[in-house]
Amino acid sequence: MVLAFATQLASAQKGVNDLDPVTERKIDSIISLMTLKEKMGQMVQYNGSFDLTGAPSEIDGNTKLQKLRDGEVGSMLNVLTAAGTREAQENVMKYSRLKIPLIFGYDVIHGYKTMFPVPLGESASWDLEAIENGARIAAVETAASGVHWTFAPMVDVSRDARWGRIMEGGGEDPYLNSVIGVARIKGFQGTNLSDVFSIAACAKHFAGYGYGEGGRDYNTVNVGVSELQNSILLPFKAAAEAGVATFMNSFNEIDGTPATASVYLQREVLKKDWDYKGFVVSDWGSIVEMINHGYAKDKMQAGELAVKGGSDMDMEGLVYEESLVPLVENGSIDEALLDDAVRRILRVKFDLGLFEDPYKYSDETREAQNVYTEAHLEASEDIARKSIVLLKNENNALPLKTSLKSIAVIGPLAADKDSPLGNWRAQAVPNSAVSVLEGIQNKLGDAVEINYAKGADLAIGERAFIQPLKLNQTDTTGFADAVAAAAKSEVVVMVLGEDAYQTGEARSYTDITLAGVQQELLDAVHAVNENIVLVLMNGRPLDLSKPNEQVPAILETWFLGSRAGNAIADVLFGDYNPSGKLPVSFPRNVGQEPLYYNRKNTGRPSSDLIFYSGYEDSSIEALFPFGFGLSYTTFEYSDISLGAETLNAEGTLTASVSVTNTGAVAGKETVQLYIRDLFASKTRPIKELRDFKQIELEPGESKTVTFVITPKTLEFYSANNIWETEPGDFEVMIGTNSMDLKKATFSYE
Ligand code: BGC
Repeated sequence: MVLAFATQLASAQKGVNDLDPVTERKIDSIISLMTLKEKMGQMVQYNGSFDLTGAPSEIDGNTKLQKLRDGEVGSMLNVLTAAGTREAQENVMKYSRLKIPLIFGYDVIHGYKTMFPVPLGESASWDLEAIENGARIAAVETAASGVHWTFAPMVDVSRDARWGRIMEGGGEDPYLNSVIGVARIKGFQGTNLSDVFSIAACAKHFAGYGYGEGGRDYNTVNVGVSELQNSILLPFKAAAEAGVATFMNSFNEIDGTPATASVYLQREVLKKDWDYKGFVVSDWGSIVEMINHGYAKDKMQAGELAVKGGSDMDMEGLVYEESLVPLVENGSIDEALLDDAVRRILRVKFDLGLFEDPYKYSDETREAQNVYTEAHLEASEDIARKSIVLLKNENNALPLKTSLKSIAVIGPLAADKDSPLGNWRAQAVPNSAVSVLEGIQNKLGDAVEINYAKGADLAIGERAFIQPLKLNQTDTTGFADAVAAAAKSEVVVMVLGEDAYQTGEARSYTDITLAGVQQELLDAVHAVNENIVLVLMNGRPLDLSKPNEQVPAILETWFLGSRAGNAIADVLFGDYNPSGKLPVSFPRNVGQEPLYYNRKNTGRPSSDLIFYSGYEDSSIEALFPFGFGLSYTTFEYSDISLGAETLNAEGTLTASVSVTNTGAVAGKETVQLYIRDLFASKTRPIKELRDFKQIELEPGESKTVTFVITPKTLEFYSANNIWETEPGDFEVMIGTNSMDLKKATFSYE
């Protein structure tokens, strides 16, 4: 019964933009009853970590609890459990004048208690149904614990491996981020927000957060309108069209204006051009941070600029509660701006059904039954398998044979039961994941000698979300055991990469090679046994140049969640044929960053030129490109056959290839379609992903894959500052990854 809800994927959905006239009238009537202070209250969100028993906390000489009771708080984040949310809600429902229920938000980024792969990893599955299902399960668990709203999905296009939050999104491609973001939104929100298995989603961070200079978190962003609209905003536009209930703005400034106060982004693009009806929550304290940006001189001005800029709710910034009432009273802002914000917030509360029953999510029975169930764990294991990317497999080093006599399992992450849970792990129980070692043990039982050695620590000291991570840079005392284990084993599985807390918020790095002493450990093991399968666990692209020269096989496994080890063992031993494809380019060196396949040409694109737009000491191409991923079988692509040579405004054009499984085992292939607009009113990338399809092929089997190209496929934000398709010549490219493509040309008239 429970699973039926979890696996029922949304077909037709009601989104926040589908206004219901009856609800709108109710909202009118509530707003007409509200005092200025009560309106302000709906726009204030408090963090939940305060004492609900009423211990005084000095804010305006009042307590937070009293403010809840006075209707001066409309939302809380980080209030958890059915009991906790009920208690907070009761304070509003029992004491406040208008009894407008609170909406509770929380960061459910890749699962609530059952952990799914981190978003970047899950995106490597390119499996929209499985991704939607993962979000659905996260929603079921979250909703059962009283929480109404997740601050996900992050749809920031992220092109810089140095940026720690690259792990939270769909990678470097705007289209892939769009379709994956929409799949997550559908999963979270279900067919109808008002059922108790659905939660409101939040497209974040609006906008540009993934483009911080130098990959530094929170850093300045400078982009022009063309790049902003065509790349950064594309997934947000898709999210708005999909009816995502809320948006979150971002910490960064963009072209000199903090996103939080951007009239252009939040009022003109989002609320006017896209006609978006949900609300925008600020990022944590991003309103007050405008003072540090040098954009607002004090809280009063920060509040004014944020409201005028379209920020509807102040997340734990404590600016709106101080500033909004006086700003309206002194005429600096029009009360209608508050009405608009409140209307948007109430709309989502109505859509969630909170006015019918403010406690409907706070249900201990559901909480006990619906969280961390075996069915949910199996679903997480399923997508974990699909998210693994085979980067290298020389001489068929993989899959390993179960007839092996001995296997060494080495590395700081090999027996780690915590890092597979990733960062932003909501209510995951620490150390609860299946480790790689356990996965291998589960698979092999006693039949094979397993020689485990940690080799070295990766992180040292306490590891936590809110605290900088310390890496082991010196201690190599465990190397001897590792070398001994490798020397006496037929094959070595080395599990290296990143600690879970090396990626995530404020986890920017300039060095993206294997951290700490891991490369030295690999060198030491390699000196005694070259038969190494490198299993990587990480949340960002790493510089793998050196390991790539040393080892015959590399498996990218990200942070795969609760059942990581089982999924990895299935791939290692061939029970699952790897099918993941990189959602982000892996560089040859950090100096290439930001690195992305969908770059533009310069006037000097050819490496045949001496004065070439490249590097003297490095190729400009990725080591492992976007869309890349091997299989235990091989696929051969035919040339592209086009249905016609021209496409017109009303028409469609088909582009087909035949794909054949030329290997010995069945496999899944993600067939990718890229487009290039050869000349346009704004320069366009040399290729852009526009569609993909997944097919399964038995050995020897061929399938024809047909894509339908329409004028919309070719659309872009043009020099006319609108989305349009310009007549001209186009290339269509189809293939197995962004660098290995068949090509054909057509024109649009
Ligand atoms: C992050 C957001 C997150 C919020 C609430 C901020 O620091 O940037 O992504 O949703 O905290 O936890």
